[in-house]
Amino acid sequence: MNRSTLKTTLLLAGLLFSGLCHAQAPDPRSAELAKTVPIADVHLHTYSYNGPSAADIVEKMNANNVRWGGGVGDLRGDIANALGNRHIATAGQREFAESFIRQGPSTLVATENIYFRDLFRDAHDMFAKGMIKGFGELHTNNENSGPQPFRRKIKTDNPAIRKFYSIANEFNGFVQIHTQHNAEFTEDILRLSADFPNTLTILSHCLPLGQPEDLANLFKQRKNIMCELSSNGELHFRLARINRPGRAYNADGVRPRWKALIEAFPDRFMLGSDMCCGWDAHYNEAITEIRTNLLPYLRVDVIELVAYKNALRVFKLSEL
Ligand SMILES: [Zn+2]
Repeated sequence: MNRSTLKTTLLLAGLLFSGLCHAQAPDPRSAELAKTVPIADVHLHTYSYNGPSAADIVEKMNANNVRWGGGVGDLRGDIANALGNRHIATAGQREFAESFIRQGPSTLVATENIYFRDLFRDAHDMFAKGMIKGFGELHTNNENSGPQPFRRKIKTDNPAIRKFYSIANEFNGFVQIHTQHNAEFTEDILRLSADFPNTLTILSHCLPLGQPEDLANLFKQRKNIMCELSSNGELHFRLARINRPGRAYNADGVRPRWKALIEAFPDRFMLGSDMCCGWDAHYNEAITEIRTNLLPYLRVDVIELVAYKNALRVFKLSEL
């Protein structure tokens, strides 16, 4: 083998290796900032049944420099009081889940649903008084994720979801949706976000089953669509006993296509812990994973946006 053949072989081997494995060394400035940057946790579960106490939530947030939290339900007065202006208060998840458990998926699309009646009646008042900033987490399609009895698939553009969007639209509020990518959803969300331009859509977990190109397609067409990155590392798969490497990041860093996407649309991404499913005790691990496997691998000027500045902007929160 002559020298140039050897060179070509090594180059090809290098390309092949970098395609298989995305181990990267983080920029030292990014690595340093990632350890301490304040975080807004926009997928902070606060279940009213068997959920953590308000004191527990505040303690865990403080221990991890998570300064703001919420974005998903249930809406609990004790947590609202304990967090004050750190709270991204949200309604609708409890009603949505209760309706599903008691009536099945078909009534989730009906505005006359008795589980939504009080919420639709009271929501204007709650927005006006600053008691809520949005709705969520509303699961429209989780047929391939989460605990089996909780799975369902309904169309996202349906009369009940339209009602949530129309109320949020009056108050520049948000709707956080947990769904998974498919062609019908793409059409639905483009239609909803055009019809309700003041409503911000937050896609939970950055749209499971979506490729980075699918998110780029939505972000290019609509300013009022964002996503949050929870459940995209190794921790959630491990807790769910699924043997899979992280979808967007793992111990080797952020996958190149996801890094490119986040850095191309740095104002569309936020962070979340998503300690659903009885995993409250793992909160510290969830934040540590973000600070270790995700943030250090982002460009230094993008880290603060993703960690908290985008959340401050869209939820109208103040620096603490
Ligand atoms: Zn969730």
